[in-house]
Amino acid sequence: MTLPSLGLITEQAIAGAISTGTHGSGKCSLSHYIAEVRIACYDVTTGEPIIRTISDGVELKAARCSLGCLGVIVSVGLWARPQYQVEEYFRRHATLAEVLAAEEFYPLQQFYVVPWKWDFYGQHRREVTGPRSWLASLYRLYFWLTFDIGMHLVIMTLVQLLRSRRGVLYFYRYLMPWTVIHGWKVVDKSYDMLIMEHELFRHSEIEIFVKRSQLTTTIPFVIELLRHFGGDTHALSLPTQERLQTLGMLDSLERCFGIYTHHYPICVRRVLPDDTLISMASSDDEDYYAISIISYARPNERQGFIRFAEHLARTTAEIFQARPHWGKYCPIDAETVSNLYPNLAEFRVLCSRADPSGRFRNQWVSRLLFGEK
Ligand SMILES: Cc1cc2nc3c(=O)[nH]c(=O)nc-3n(C[C@H](O)[C@H](O)[C@H](O)COP(=O)(O)OP(=O)(O)OC[C@H]3O[C@@H](n4cnc5c(N)ncnc54)[C@H](O)[C@@H]3O)c2cc1C
Repeated sequence: MTLPSLGLITEQAIAGAISTGTHGSGKCSLSHYIAEVRIACYDVTTGEPIIRTISDGVELKAARCSLGCLGVIVSVGLWARPQYQVEEYFRRHATLAEVLAAEEFYPLQQFYVVPWKWDFYGQHRREVTGPRSWLASLYRLYFWLTFDIGMHLVIMTLVQLLRSRRGVLYFYRYLMPWTVIHGWKVVDKSYDMLIMEHELFRHSEIEIFVKRSQLTTTIPFVIELLRHFGGDTHALSLPTQERLQTLGMLDSLERCFGIYTHHYPICVRRVLPDDTLISMASSDDEDYYAISIISYARPNERQGFIRFAEHLARTTAEIFQARPHWGKYCPIDAETVSNLYPNLAEFRVLCSRADPSGRFRNQWVSRLLFGEK
């Protein structure tokens, strides 16, 4: 058996994964599939500890992704499904439109924007019924050596040891394309195909979620921002400069010129609408796309990335209504959160009813979700 939706890793606890809207590509986030949650909390009249079972209605939508606000989750119920086979192959695409078009045939696909080359690599995936490929073990070994280990070691050497902007640019423009074997179609079981060993090397990450209708304008905007932070004088187009001026962010952005060279492929994943109140893909209509930006800068050299992430979160929330992942770097304020999540008021009411004194909330959640100082 396997879970209905898998992120890049499976090291998380289920409670942690659902409480932050953890997702993979081509399905809803794991939160969406939760059918029952048992929560340890206090009886509001007697103050005695109790365990509540929530299995329907709007409370279930809240409990599916609650950032711990309803109490301590002690178990969850969800329908697992039999393990299935996934076919995968990589292909380069010159344009965003081209890689998105492949989604029709490869609904589980994710794709990467390659920094400093700004082209697209589709990791095309679909569910199939065929048997495991006889070269699947070789493919696993290739993937592990090349991407899970090799690419990360090269990036960390360039970023942490050599601190070489030129090296990063050279790697993505001339070397990285040779590491990808195009068109090698392999079928393997879903659990092996859908995950990678992303937990091996410590990194920082911000991931923003935009609706499908905003995707084709958000990605070029993110690229412009990355090029500007990376020291490209012609990065910001006139319309972008005008937008930033209107937001009052152009001056602050100009001061960030050249302070951060991005050095990791930008992963883009489709997340189907979640039936929840506040997971990032919570929606009654469109799919969301998660755009993930990862940095391997050493913890004491992260300032450039942090400044980038703050500008990214603020500008894309204003312009594209982008929601940053709750379980990653999430530099937004309470006012922005209430603009981005139409069901937040309902979520607050349910939390206040279940936990009137807010003892299950930490400072961050109190500030961001409940607007407390
Ligand atoms: C290497 C790596 C890869 C990742 N890949 C992905 C990915 O592919 N897709 C994706 O969406 N995310 C991904 N994430 C993010 C990750 O899924 C979330 O941060 C998740 O919350 C981590 O789970 P955890 O069990 O470590 O949670 P924790 O960090 O322990 O908890 C996160 C939050 O969940 C709540 N929580 C945890 N346990 C309980 C409980 N028992 N009761 C009530 N509330 C609780 C709390 O609010 C807590 O702050 C990745 C993270 C890492 C480090």
